[in-house]
Amino acid sequence: MSVGSQEILVLGGGAAGLMAAFTLAKAGKRVTVLEARDRVGGRIHTVHHPFSEPTELGAEFIHGNLPLTLQLLKQAGIYKHPVDFEMWHFKDGSLVQSHEFIQNWHALLEKLNSLEQDMPMSTFLKRYFSGEAFITMRQQIADYVSGYDTANITDASCFALRREWNNESDSDQYRIEGGYASLINYLTKQFHKMGGTILTNTPVKSIEWQKDSVEIKTIGGKVFTSGKVVVALPLGILQLNPESAGAIHFYPEISVQRSVFNDIGFGQVVKILLEFNSAFWEKELLAPAAGKDISGMGFLFTNHEIPTFWTQAPLKRPLLTGWLGGPPTHAFKDFSKEEVRNLALRSLTSVFNITLQQLHEQLIAWDVVNWADEPYTRGSYAYDTVCSAHARSVLFEPIEETIYFAGEYLYEGPSMGTVEAALTSGKRAAEKLLGFYMD
Ligand SMILES: Cc1cc2nc3c(=O)[nH]c(=O)nc-3n(C[C@H](O)[C@H](O)[C@H](O)COP(=O)(O)OP(=O)(O)OC[C@H]3O[C@@H](n4cnc5c(N)ncnc54)[C@H](O)[C@@H]3O)c2cc1C
Repeated sequence: MSVGSQEILVLGGGAAGLMAAFTLAKAGKRVTVLEARDRVGGRIHTVHHPFSEPTELGAEFIHGNLPLTLQLLKQAGIYKHPVDFEMWHFKDGSLVQSHEFIQNWHALLEKLNSLEQDMPMSTFLKRYFSGEAFITMRQQIADYVSGYDTANITDASCFALRREWNNESDSDQYRIEGGYASLINYLTKQFHKMGGTILTNTPVKSIEWQKDSVEIKTIGGKVFTSGKVVVALPLGILQLNPESAGAIHFYPEISVQRSVFNDIGFGQVVKILLEFNSAFWEKELLAPAAGKDISGMGFLFTNHEIPTFWTQAPLKRPLLTGWLGGPPTHAFKDFSKEEVRNLALRSLTSVFNITLQQLHEQLIAWDVVNWADEPYTRGSYAYDTVCSAHARSVLFEPIEETIYFAGEYLYEGPSMGTVEAALTSGKRAAEKLLGFYMD
């Protein structure tokens, strides 16, 4: 199918691809989005079934006052709720509230801020915080980096982590009314209104290209041609060895770009959603929490297999979300969804002194998503290694003004790996492409 040499194909209908498509259509271009799944949104996946309210299997929070996300929400008239960040730890058999949970945090930041040359976090810790006195601290950092950034300290960049940690604030975090899908629906609706086309169930397998001419083949044997293409596929797909199933082939090969895809880290995450018929943790003064008011609990940290849980506080919805990120996910890669759910439930039994049977009786809906197993994602989100800045500088440049890359991994601000990063990158790729037309 030819969409015309003056028209543009966008591969991937996630936040980056839709934002690129929306920006191009708004500038009067004819755009077609090719999306592999039967839905748009990618790592934004708000589901209704089997839950009683919209539930996020992927992105959930707006991590700060992020300009593009907030601007779109405002345009769309979508409401956002502030998030409660009251943190509790389950330690030595009891629940304690605490704000800081990495030992020597200030000393760590001070040393990081004085660092003149980037290095992987594990090298930094070995160099400056070695020895027995820092065993706990080193473990806490590894847990934090894998939990929050879904990254591995053996290659995560110190410069990127210090940027993130210096910008951290507990306030100004939000959830979106109706879920992140509301934002995706808005972009899709506007795009359609401007004449754009989205083809779902259209997984791309190869890109044959020369300057100003692109031929895209799909797994189902369809062929699309156009003058330019925005490749808004997840980094996990681009990182696949060309021999692997699901890899995208470029003819001619784009060796310079391919050689840097792996210089940006791409993490792993398992997200567990457990909806109960009531917020039992709020009502009962259960033994480990005896005498403490845990009704405002936002986050709960344990030293169990599933180390992090959160509630929907301050909203009163009885949903607990379990989160396992980074290298520890490997241990559970062959686990069924039921097995992972049971690990989470078992952890809750000891935290809240409740039996497994009681938990099962109260559980009304659940799901588990291991994002590394998702064939059209292959991981969680990007993190920086010491080589990422160079990789991005290569990938920011279009190939012969014909192939443009977009995706959350192509972002240089403080909110790495987020929806904001994806939106910003999609907009940037589209503007770069439009600049070409104006030249
Ligand atoms: C569990 C989880 C929780 C997260 N939580 C947050 C959060 O709280 N806040 C936040 O801001 N961010 C969060 N993120 C990150 C955020 O979801 C992503 O950064 C963002 O959605 C990525 O958008 P994208 O467009 O770059 O990629 P994607 O959303 O992955 O979009 C890429 C699209 O390409 C499609 N595709 C793949 N292969 C092909 C192919 N061969 N042919 C055609 N199409 C293809 C995919 O189906 C997908 O739709 C989370 C991510 C995960 C996984």
